[in-house]
Amino acid sequence: MKNLYSIALQTANPIKLKKNGEAGHVGRALETVSGAVFTGICIDVPCSIGICAEQAAIAEMLKSSESKIKRIVAVYEDGSILPPCGRCRELMSQLDLYNENTFVAVDCGKEVMLKELLPERWDRKWD
Ligand SMILES: [Zn+2]
Repeated sequence: MKNLYSIALQTANPIKLKKNGEAGHVGRALETVSGAVFTGICIDVPCSIGICAEQAAIAEMLKSSESKIKRIVAVYEDGSILPPCGRCRELMSQLDLYNENTFVAVDCGKEVMLKELLPERWDRKWD
């Protein structure tokens, strides 16, 4: 986890955009089961338009035809760890059944499996 944390922290690179937008204040790094590492940054602009760093990192991963996430970490520009939002938790779970077992950093030195963050699945009916 420490290496992924360092990569995520290096990925975070805050930038001000015109019209009150900003990007890069959250950096995300994920490692797939193959050992590949993909990164992403958040983009926040007015009108709730933007993407989470998870979504950017996941898009990078999918470009390599991978979908099984072994471990994922997000770091805010101040170095603190951010758990993924509900939408990103759901996105990871829907990419691949394996991802129920993804280790998600939720605090400094603390990881939990994605399935612990998504109890009482709505889609069990179709398993
Ligand atoms: Zn999110």
